[in-house]
Amino acid sequence: MTTAAAPPGDPLVSIDRVHGARARAEQAGIDLLVLTPGSDLRYLTGYAAHAMERLTALAVPRRGEPYLVVPRLEAPMVDASPAAALQLELMAWDETDDPFALLAGAATARLGTAPRRVAVGARTWAEHALGVQRALPGSALELAGPVVDRLRVVKTPAEIQELAAAGAAIDRVHARMGEWLRVGRTEAEVGADIAAAILAEGHVAVDFTIVGSGPNGASPHHELSGRAIEAGDLVVVDIGGMTATGYRSDCTRTYAVGRDPDAATAEWYGVLQAAQAAATAAVRPGVTAEQVDAAARELIAVAGWGEQFIHRTGHGIGLDTHEAPYVVAGNALPLEPGMAFSVEPGIYFAGRCGARIEDIVVCTDDGVRTLNDGPRELVVLPG
Ligand code: ZN
Ligand code: ZN
Repeated sequence: MTTAAAPPGDPLVSIDRVHGARARAEQAGIDLLVLTPGSDLRYLTGYAAHAMERLTALAVPRRGEPYLVVPRLEAPMVDASPAAALQLELMAWDETDDPFALLAGAATARLGTAPRRVAVGARTWAEHALGVQRALPGSALELAGPVVDRLRVVKTPAEIQELAAAGAAIDRVHARMGEWLRVGRTEAEVGADIAAAILAEGHVAVDFTIVGSGPNGASPHHELSGRAIEAGDLVVVDIGGMTATGYRSDCTRTYAVGRDPDAATAEWYGVLQAAQAAATAAVRPGVTAEQVDAAARELIAVAGWGEQFIHRTGHGIGLDTHEAPYVVAGNALPLEPGMAFSVEPGIYFAGRCGARIEDIVVCTDDGVRTLNDGPRELVVLPG
């Protein structure tokens, strides 16, 4: 009875994912996976639980059936979530119970011996990870990433459809930038308009609104400030949100406000655009993540701005905005069809300005599919 079918219409939830995690744990010699609220849990079960001090955890022993440990008062929320279709055993605990002892006892019963290698999610709260370890004296904790990331890193067609919808939604927000990005308005005012539009255009939550105008554009993760946009500013706008199914958008465009860029700016921006295109074109199965990074970096370095490209070229995206695979020197992971990640080189001149161009792309069977379609040249807004 191990392959319960996904509920019709929801190809994002399948017991196969839980069983896939179990098979990989077995291969890796990990006795027990413990995954708490967050994207790992949502990915495996469809349950978008909120993180809190009370323990909620999916426990996957290397043998035997997986189970969910949940506070009794939240058991109805599991039943109401897509996770109900998986028919996982629910172990509800009362306010005065020890949920860690419950979790540990069930794992020991399934394995016939106490688990020794216990893997927890990278973003599991320390109090939960340490609680599991205390309940299993003699166990050693490690990260579940090698098991769970390996599943999450290759997206199914249904997941790519969700990422494409998120990409189209954020493209619609960028397409309206001229309504908001105007001389005299502050970054914070522009950011508030963008946030409203992110929600209006197919997201249920705003993840971030970066509006880096003028010198603030040189700080890649600058968010919003009271600085007013000036004529002639370059403005880096990097925005993203979460859709109803949990998938994320993330797209950067750089705008010139009030007047055309001067020749020098047009020159280095042209190099950036060529680098972004080159890295995108490099994507295909078998090419490594670091080769995609190098494709962007080499063009920028040859043009003399290598020192100004101060971050990796990209990051994977799915239920988290930043997840594997990371597109960075040192990551020799060969790309596979279904891997989704950003391609986002930037050039930054501290104290003056910066620019970045970011698309989400997917490695396909024979190349690349781009999930953002807005213009990548420097868009001049009237101001
Ligand atoms: Zn971004
Ligand atoms: Zn990004």
